[in-house]
Amino acid sequence: TLSDRLSGIFTKLRGKGRLTDADIDATAREIRLALLEADVALPVVKGFIANVKERARSAEVSQALNPAQQIIKIVNEELIAVLGGEGRRLQFAKQPPTVIMLAGLQGSGKTTLAGKLARWLKAQGHQPLLVAADLQRPNAVGQLQVLGGRAGVEVYAPEPGNGVGDPVQVARASIEHARRAARDVVIVDTAGRLGIDAEMMRQAADIRDAVDPDEVIFVVDAMVGQDAVRTAEAFRDGVGISGVVLSKLDGDARGGAALSVREVTGQPILFASTGEKPEDFDVFHPDRMASRILGMGDVLTLIEQAEAAFDADQKEKMTAKLMGGEQFTLEDFLDQLIAVRRMGPIANVLAMMPGMGQMKDQLAELDDKHFDRVTAIIRSMTPAERTNPKIINGSRRARIANGSGVAVMDVNQLLNRFADAQKMMKQMGGMMGLPGGGRRKA
Ligand code: GDP
Ligand code: MG
Repeated sequence: TLSDRLSGIFTKLRGKGRLTDADIDATAREIRLALLEADVALPVVKGFIANVKERARSAEVSQALNPAQQIIKIVNEELIAVLGGEGRRLQFAKQPPTVIMLAGLQGSGKTTLAGKLARWLKAQGHQPLLVAADLQRPNAVGQLQVLGGRAGVEVYAPEPGNGVGDPVQVARASIEHARRAARDVVIVDTAGRLGIDAEMMRQAADIRDAVDPDEVIFVVDAMVGQDAVRTAEAFRDGVGISGVVLSKLDGDARGGAALSVREVTGQPILFASTGEKPEDFDVFHPDRMASRILGMGDVLTLIEQAEAAFDADQKEKMTAKLMGGEQFTLEDFLDQLIAVRRMGPIANVLAMMPGMGQMKDQLAELDDKHFDRVTAIIRSMTPAERTNPKIINGSRRARIANGSGVAVMDVNQLLNRFADAQKMMKQMGGMMGLPGGGRRKA
């Protein structure tokens, strides 16, 4: 994946003190290859590499204490810029209802997104209305009705058997209905085709004219790679789009679509869809996506989720550890295990930790029972042992195993895994461009 390749490149760089022009060229070449391999569109790659190279040759790098880390920082910053910088919120109309139209190819995830968006808006106190303007695919209306029902959101659809076959009429009438029923946000789901075709574009444009949307959101499957660019261009020119949603980011998307689509359309990525369930959905954060692409795990998402489970004090401690590459002790590990237990499916949570993304397979086998066993083992250690696991010799291991009701082998395994995790944390600290063991800058 893109992340793997970039991690490899940065690992090589980290060993170096000074960077020569040749080093910079070689690194730029590798980044270029990694991006192309990840299906990022060529013009986007070219622009990206040119920016990185220019900055890499500048004083900010040559005068840095650790030029390699500085380059990683530059790549991270440029990635964030390409992904949209600060990000943008949904635009609401001054006069309700706000009209949001969804457009995209068939199967891109429009209808699923419509349900998620409705649920999300409702949770924020809005009164959304879902509109079934996909009258092409059999059961498209039914699918939206099921999603709306689950979200507790009204679905506006043509009466069955009424002979109504005109999605433009339905869309237009839905706005009237929204006014009467005091719905403040209207989400119009539209039909897509498997490929770009003129009739679909015309229909989408007609619906657009009928509902005069505040947002036209282009939904694109993050798994499709290079094709995303052509599709995005077609919708940009045929319908006009004001924002993008990346769907299926939970798959092993190569990340290229995210980078290209934003650049090609010139429009911000507003949301990310990460699964089939209604709650698999979030506002898009360019900085987090950049970290994910760089293989640093989704530290910020993790920290945000942790807020629910950690108290402020613990959270600060954890943030400092994760971001600062500080020594991470078994005591911290235990704190985290307990908090993580309160956070939901363990494999999901852990997969977001730095360096853990590559350990998906091992994570899958970590069920909750296993976690409780690990917790028991650490609880059977003395505070000194938790802070400095090196002192845990054979007889201590036997005592700990006895106390927690496991085999000595289990204690050994935990200590080995912990040593690996500690090493990884340290590396992450380095990769974030921070001096080893140092503090996080503001
Ligand atoms: P539409 O044709 O654009 O309306 O696409 P749908 O919303 O019907 O989605 C097509 C398929 O993709 C369905 O099986 C969805 O369950 C699935 N899907 C949609 N969004 C996601 C996502 O974010 N992740 C995953 N894994 N599947 C998704
Ligand atoms: Mg649909």
